[in-house]
Order: sequence, then structure tokens, then C-alpha cells
Amino acid sequence: MMQKNYINNKWVDGSDGKFFDVENPFTEEIIAQVPQSSNKDVDMAVQAAKRAWKDWKILGSLDMRDILREVAVKSRLHDREIAAIISEESGKPLIECLDEIEWVASIFEYYSEIGRDQRGRVVAPVTPRSMSMVVKESYGVVGCIVPWNYPLLLMAWKAAPALAAGNTVVVKPSEITPLSIMCWLEKCCHHLPNGTINMVTGHGKIGAALVEHPDTRVIAFTGSVDTGKKIAMMAAAQLKKTSLELGGNDPIIICDDVDVEIAAKGTAWGGFLNAGQVCTSLERVFVMESIADSFIEAVVEETKKVRLGDPMDGKTDMGPMASLIQLEKTEAKVEQAKQEGARLLCGGNRPADFNRGYFFQPTVFDKVESEMTMMNVETFGPIIPIQKIKTLDEAIELTNNSIYGLGCNIYTNDMEKALTAADDIKAGSFWINDPLTDNEAAPFGGMKMSGGGRELGIEGLDEFRESKHILIDYQIRKKDYWFPYNLEEGRKT
Ligand code: NAD
Repeated sequence: MMQKNYINNKWVDGSDGKFFDVENPFTEEIIAQVPQSSNKDVDMAVQAAKRAWKDWKILGSLDMRDILREVAVKSRLHDREIAAIISEESGKPLIECLDEIEWVASIFEYYSEIGRDQRGRVVAPVTPRSMSMVVKESYGVVGCIVPWNYPLLLMAWKAAPALAAGNTVVVKPSEITPLSIMCWLEKCCHHLPNGTINMVTGHGKIGAALVEHPDTRVIAFTGSVDTGKKIAMMAAAQLKKTSLELGGNDPIIICDDVDVEIAAKGTAWGGFLNAGQVCTSLERVFVMESIADSFIEAVVEETKKVRLGDPMDGKTDMGPMASLIQLEKTEAKVEQAKQEGARLLCGGNRPADFNRGYFFQPTVFDKVESEMTMMNVETFGPIIPIQKIKTLDEAIELTNNSIYGLGCNIYTNDMEKALTAADDIKAGSFWINDPLTDNEAAPFGGMKMSGGGRELGIEGLDEFRESKHILIDYQIRKKDYWFPYNLEEGRKT
């Protein structure tokens, strides 16, 4: 595989000749050196995308469908190879990486179809014998800035709809996980017309260069709230459209009418999936007092069963964290929780049985209060804090008392309770009895400081289309409301 930038369907060296290291978080070995790109490289990629846009935006819908569908076919064909690279660079269990490729294939398939479904509407004309068309058209070059926790998936959630809407794309992968995107481009994207999809590697500076480039018309970003704010401010200087998918501190509410065993298993999975490094990870657990003791005991039991190990081993439930920085941040959050008075029930440390790899034990706290830091700031690690609540109203209030509004989960058999909570809670996704499950045909995104962008569904396509009104008069006619004005004669239409 070429560890270079991908511009105009060619692998090209970074113009400065500088590189940065990519590490395997399981072995702690350097596995690749990748170009530390410069603004010149960003400009080359944007110019290639801009040239490609002229033809791509007017490509016939069947040709576009076939090209995007071929991406899906090739993604499935090379799934093992690409999944192994995601696992190697991120520490995610192989099974989760295979799921990720399947979702990538599926999203290209989905947008290959709905991209050709409709491009606007015709509205009633204001004058006889005329027509008003509302046409949805592409913006031009879209910059896609991607995090490391789902490197391919979160790229595909942007690139697939952006391309299907007629835009061309420049991707900036996370500096932690650029290799899987490179492999995917090499194996699955060479058949796209030159320059339709491009990639430049680098740190935040290169993401910023993409935002500030005058020829990127939309920036689709997934990442932290802090970076999202910086991007919003940079983009505002050019009144550039942004689609921001930011962090969360998602709750799950456990009502007292549920099967405690199942709720505990679902909570452990939703909290420890990808070592808690999911934007919609369960980070606040609110459990009703009457079942709290048995629920907490069951969650601890499930947590102790989670098998840590080599991410390439098919029986590993949880791999290492993606980087030393993530591990150290998690340790600091656990220390802070202990200092603030939460009670550690299990986990809380690096496991003793590994002499390498950025592992952290799955961790459960109880005696948690809503003022504690972990109940207010995104954790992004394998930590489940459990707080007892008396009523559903209390849970709704606590849930809404947050700067975030990404997702919310509830376990209950009582649909009145579930749907009342869904009505009253500000969150972009609301899961009843099925934590964290997305549907490609339904929008995903946040409210409040989780960002207002939407991915997936028709909403995900509309992020990359702008509306134009085209008015047609069937005849060239002089209008009687033109000059010269004469108010006394009254107004003729
Ligand atoms: P991050 O914000 O540190 O980085 C994300 C990307 O932005 C990287 O490619 C990085 O190089 C780039 N970047 C950094 N500084 C930049 C700048 N000034 N200008 C432009 N680009 C810049 O986030 P991360 O640590 O990679 O990812 C974790 C975060 O992502 C968490 O907060 C998580 O909740 C969030 N996330 C959100 C969603 C969602 O859909 N809402 C999904 C996954 C992850």
C-alpha cells in the first residue's frame, strides 16, 4: 500500500517530504509513516476535486449509481484486508471492524439509489403559463474531516452522500488512523473519475487548511466539541456551510418495569463497545431506586465477563484504547471520579496481565451525583457511572441538564413513559429498548453542543445540496407592473 496522499487518482508524496508515525495501540509499534502534508498539498487536492466537479455534477444518474455501487461491491470484496488495517491502527476488535466495512458498503449502496431519486420539486406558479422549479444542486468541493474511532464509517457517512449529491470530495483522515482510508481508496475507488475523491494526511493544521481553503464550499466534520467550535469560527469568516457531528455524554434510563438482566447486558455493551470510544457510548446511567441494587450487581457481573485481548482474536470483546493519550485521559477521569466521591465497583486501572498495549479495564462506578465531572463532560472511555433516580421526570430533567444532545436511551415496557421521554428530551437520536442502533435511512446527529449536522437518510443527502429556484415564463411578455408607475390608475396585474 502506498503511504502517500491520494490526489487525482494518483498516490503522491507530500510536498514537504515530512512524515509522522502511525502506531499500533496493541503492540505499541510504529506501523507506518505517513505524509505530514502542507497547505500546498491541500491546494492540489482541492484543485483536483474542483476540476473533477465540472463533469461529476452533470453525470447521468445511472452512471453515477453504477460507480457508487461499485464502491460498495469492492468494499465487501476487500473487507477482511481493510478490517485488519482498521483493527491494527485503532485497536478495535476485528469483528467490529468487519461490521464497519459492511456499513460502509451499505451506505454507498443506499446513497447510490436515493441520490438519483429526486433533485427538487415543482411548485405552483405565481402567474399563468409559467413554472417554478426548486432544484437541489451540489455545492462543489466538500472537505470531510474525520476522527479515529470509526475512521472509515465516518468518512463514508460524508463522502457517499456528498458524491451522490454531485459534489467532489477531499478527505482529511485522523492522524491516528489514516491507513484504513488509504487501503480503501486503493482497493475500492480507482474506478471513480480522476479527482472525484482525494485524500491528504496530516494533523489538525491540515484540517484547518481545508476549512480555510476558499474553494471548499462545505466542511463536514466529526470530532470533538472544541475542534467543532474552531471549525465553525474559521468557516464563518467565509460564510461557509458546515455540517458538525460532535461529542456527547449520552444517558440510558433504566425504568423499574424491565428485565434487569437484559438491561444490564445492554448497558455493559453500550458502555464498553469499542472501549467506550463511541460518540453515543452510554456515559450516564440513571436507574430507578427500586431495582438499582440488583441492576448494579448485574452490570458489575457483565463487566467482569468482558474479555480484553488481541483485537485480531475473534474472541476479544474489548481491545486496547486507540492511543496512549486516550488511555491517560481515561485514567485521569477515573481518578477525578474517585476524588469527587464516586464509588469504584470494578475496573479502574490498566490490567496487570498485559505488558504492552494501551488497555484499560472496563470500569463501573456507583454513588454517583449529577454534579460530578463525568456526568457533565464526555468520557470517551470504558467507564459506566450509575446514578439512582426516583422518577422518570427526574431522569428527563437530568438528561436535559447537559450541554450535549446527541443520543438518549431508555429501557421500559411502558410506551407512555418511553414516548413521553422521547417528546421531552432534546437529543438527535432516542433509542427505546435497543441502545445505539442506527438506521441508514433515518437521520443521525446531535442537538445543542453535539452539533446540528445530520448524516444518513435524506437529511444526510440534503447537507450537501443547496436549493435554487428556477422560474420559467412560457412566453417573453412585457409585464404591466414594470415602469412607468402610475398609482392613480390603480395597479393592474
Ligand atoms: P478531534 O476533534 O480531536 O479530531 C477530529 C479531526 O479533526 C481529526 O482529523 C483532526 O486532525 C482534525 N482537527 C483537529 N484540529 C483541527 C482544526 N483546528 N481544524 C480542522 N481540523 C482539525 O476528535 P477525535 O479525538 O479524533 O475524535 C473524538 C471525538 O469525536 C469525540 O468528541 C467524539 O464524541 C466525537 N465523535 C462524534 C461523532 C458524531 O457523530 N457526533 C462520532 C464519532 C466521534
